[in-house]
Amino acid sequence: MNGYDTDIFERHSIPGGLCTAWKRKGYVFDGCIHFLIGTNPESRLHHLWNEVGAFNGSDIIDHDVYMQIEGDSGKKLILYCDMDKLEKHMAELSPADVKAVRELTDAIRNFSIGRDGSNGNRLSQISMKEFVSELHDPFLQEALSTFGNLQFFLMTMYSYGRKDAGWPVGGSIGIARNIEERFLELGGRIRYKTKVEEIVIENGCARGVKLTDGATHNADYVISAADGYETIYNILQGKYVDQEITDLYTHAQTYPTSMQISLGVDYDLSDVPHDVFLKLKKPVRIAGVEKRGIWIKNYCFDNALCPEGKSVVTTIITTEYEYWNKLSQDKGLYQAEKENIARTFIEVFENRFPKAAGKVEVYDVATPMTYSRYTGAWRGAYMGWMSTPQWPVMSVPSTLPGMEAFYMTGQWTNPRGGLPIALTTARGTLMRISEADGRKFETV
Ligand SMILES: Cc1cc2nc3c(=O)[nH]c(=O)nc-3n(C[C@H](O)[C@H](O)[C@H](O)COP(=O)(O)OP(=O)(O)OC[C@H]3O[C@@H](n4cnc5c(N)ncnc54)[C@H](O)[C@@H]3O)c2cc1C
Repeated sequence: MNGYDTDIFERHSIPGGLCTAWKRKGYVFDGCIHFLIGTNPESRLHHLWNEVGAFNGSDIIDHDVYMQIEGDSGKKLILYCDMDKLEKHMAELSPADVKAVRELTDAIRNFSIGRDGSNGNRLSQISMKEFVSELHDPFLQEALSTFGNLQFFLMTMYSYGRKDAGWPVGGSIGIARNIEERFLELGGRIRYKTKVEEIVIENGCARGVKLTDGATHNADYVISAADGYETIYNILQGKYVDQEITDLYTHAQTYPTSMQISLGVDYDLSDVPHDVFLKLKKPVRIAGVEKRGIWIKNYCFDNALCPEGKSVVTTIITTEYEYWNKLSQDKGLYQAEKENIARTFIEVFENRFPKAAGKVEVYDVATPMTYSRYTGAWRGAYMGWMSTPQWPVMSVPSTLPGMEAFYMTGQWTNPRGGLPIALTTARGTLMRISEADGRKFETV
């Protein structure tokens, strides 16, 4: 805390924001972490996670396989985290592609992001579409096309390979609670169910916050870790913007949003990989869009989530915010569509795992509206900005023109979203404030 007296005002009743989970009939449905970068004790980020107490002694699970992709012909691509094993497996699947497979696994082995965002090899310059077009084997082409973005794929596989993309036992709500505990231990105060309505500004200087219950709290600095749009355009009514901010919020794209369907299943799936991507023989229609593949995530590896001998299974399906925003105007239609989608997913799941058929005890569907409702996430976007060739997002302001003593942190203040960004932008803000106050930045 670096000697600062700190209050957090959080509109929800629990910590974590998007990093959350919810309980249904004894099952815990995790709504966030699939992999957390910084779980390897050797990585610098690990040290930063420890500063905020994120792991607090929790075990970290490192999977041997990132994902298993199953084609409709029964073929399987197993994405081993060990590159030698992966190379051998892919070469066996397609001997004609040995050279390309070698290039791919080498790009993963040697992955590092250069200053200009590239990692210096040929694969850092081309798209996944281009890479798969060079392959001979149709199954490998189809399986790798599951990943739209080659750079993201390389980065993820590299992080898995060096055991730096693990799962902290207890999952998302576990690390949120650990960080909360650390903050309280250090003397911080948190008020839940407390929404900030206004930022008190005097002579162009942030001086505190006004809450929806009318109470005002004074402060030397105000830091908004809330959603960027909510902060700039709702709380501050768009009064502190310049052309850069206006352009960003008008033209830049946000990461696609999605829905999550979660199942509590009275069947033990512990012998099934934690991530399976199924290519479907018969496509399904979900939220108005035809889907040719469905991802099935199985949480049996963490007993904290599943009752003994049972399983938690989820899927994330990309969807359009506008579709759900429109539908949510009619509660009946909105609920009916959620039911519909849950039934479709259960059917896909039961077809793949016939022994678990009829054993779904509880299900839950979260939509982009759910993310907006609980955290205020703009357009349900939970990874912030997405850089595109049409509108590259290279940097994002974390202060606003015309306002002193005010900072923003979190995924909307950096071109890339995710939990590490929430962590590092918050730390960076505290360093800036300490520097402005002439204080040495120290962490306990
Ligand atoms: C399905 C899913 C999967 C994901 N998978 C991963 C993953 O595998 N790895 C990873 O690193 N990241 C993942 N993420 C992304 C990650 O959760 C987010 O990028 C990160 O949580 C963003 O943190 P944040 O603090 O910037 O924003 P948020 O988590 O949105 O926090 C903002 C907080 O501000 C509060 N708030 C908003 N407005 C107000 C107000 N007016 N007054 C008071 N409080 C307010 C909100 O309630 C919320 O608690 C995933 C997210 C989702 C939803």
